[in-house]
Amino acid sequence: MNEKAKILIIYTGGTIGMKENIESGALSPVNFSEISNEIPEIRKFNFQIDSIEFDTPIDSSDIDFNFWKKLANIIFDNYKKYTGFVVLHGTDTMAFTASMLSFMFVNLNKPVIFTGSQLPIGMLRTDGKENLISAIEIAAAKENNQSVVPEVCIYFENRLFRGNRTRKSNAEYFNAFASENYPNLANVGINIKYNYKYINYPTKQLDCFSVNTKIENRVGVLKLFPGITKEFVNAIVNTSNIKALVLETFGSGNAITKKWFLDILKNANKKGLVIANVTQCSAGSVQQGKYQTSVGLIDAGVISGNDITTEAAITKLMHLLAQNYSIEEVKKQFETSISGEMSV
Ligand code: ASP
Repeated sequence: MNEKAKILIIYTGGTIGMKENIESGALSPVNFSEISNEIPEIRKFNFQIDSIEFDTPIDSSDIDFNFWKKLANIIFDNYKKYTGFVVLHGTDTMAFTASMLSFMFVNLNKPVIFTGSQLPIGMLRTDGKENLISAIEIAAAKENNQSVVPEVCIYFENRLFRGNRTRKSNAEYFNAFASENYPNLANVGINIKYNYKYINYPTKQLDCFSVNTKIENRVGVLKLFPGITKEFVNAIVNTSNIKALVLETFGSGNAITKKWFLDILKNANKKGLVIANVTQCSAGSVQQGKYQTSVGLIDAGVISGNDITTEAAITKLMHLLAQNYSIEEVKKQFETSISGEMSV
C-alpha cells in the first residue's frame, strides 16, 4: 500500500447513506458526515482521505445526464490532487453511470471505483462498510509508481469489475452486480488478488487526462417479446427526434422475421436511425447471421452490439451521437471497443 496516497470520496447518494423516515418508513439519503460517523474504521488508513458530497444526495433512480457531467467534472477538477477516487452511488443505476464515465474520460490513468451497498451503512448487517473500505484500498493501490487499476470500476461484495461490463443482477442479495462477459479485475478475500492481465493499462505514461462531457440523450431501448404488436414497434421506432435505438433481441441476436417488423426497421435506418442489436441474455454475444432469424436485421441496417451490456450500449450511443460524427462513423465506432466495453 502506498503511504502517501490521497483518496477523494465523492458521495452522490444511494442506500449506503440512507436512513428510514420515521413516519413513512421509506429510505432516503442523509449527508456524508452521518455516513463517516458510522465508519470510524476509515480513519485507520494511513493516508489522506477527503470527501465531497453532492448538495442533495439522491437515489440513483433520479440520475440524468446533468448528474454525469457534474460527477465527471468533479473528478476532472481534482484529478491531479488525488491518487484515486471512490464514488458512493446508488446501486440501481450504478452500471449506467460507470459505463458513461468510462466513455467520457479520455486517457484515464487513475482508479475511479464505484461502490455502494444493499443495506444502509448504519444497519448492523450492512455490506456498506466492507465495500467502502476495500474500494478505498483499491483506489489507493500503486505498484511501480502506476495505479494498479487505472479504470472506471465497480467494487461490490468481494469483487472488482470493469464498470462498463457490469449490470445490477440482484435486488436482494449482497452480490448485486455481475460481469458475465468479462473476468473480474480483482477478487477480494484475505488478500486482494488482482487479475493484472485483464486490467487496461496505458501504453505510454499519460499526463493528458480530459473529460468529454457532450451527451445526446435522444436514444431508446426496445425489448422484443413474443406477440409484440406492429403499433407498439412503430410507436417506439418512430418516436419523434429519436437518434438511436438499442434493440434487445433474443439469444444470439435473433428477432421476429415478419415483413412488417423488418420494414419498420429498414425505413427507420434509411431515415438515419442507428439501431444496435443487444442480446436480452445476461451472458454471451450477438452473432447476426448465425440463425435465419437475424439475417433480416443485417439487411435492415441493424448493427451488432456483440457482447455489450444494454447499460453500456445506451451510454455509448449517447456519447457517440454527441460527437458530430456522421451516422456511418457512429456505427463504425459503436462496433469497436472504445473503453473495453465489448470483446472485439
Ligand atoms: N434505490 C437505491 C439507489 O439506487 C438502491 C441502492 O442504492 O442500492 O439509489
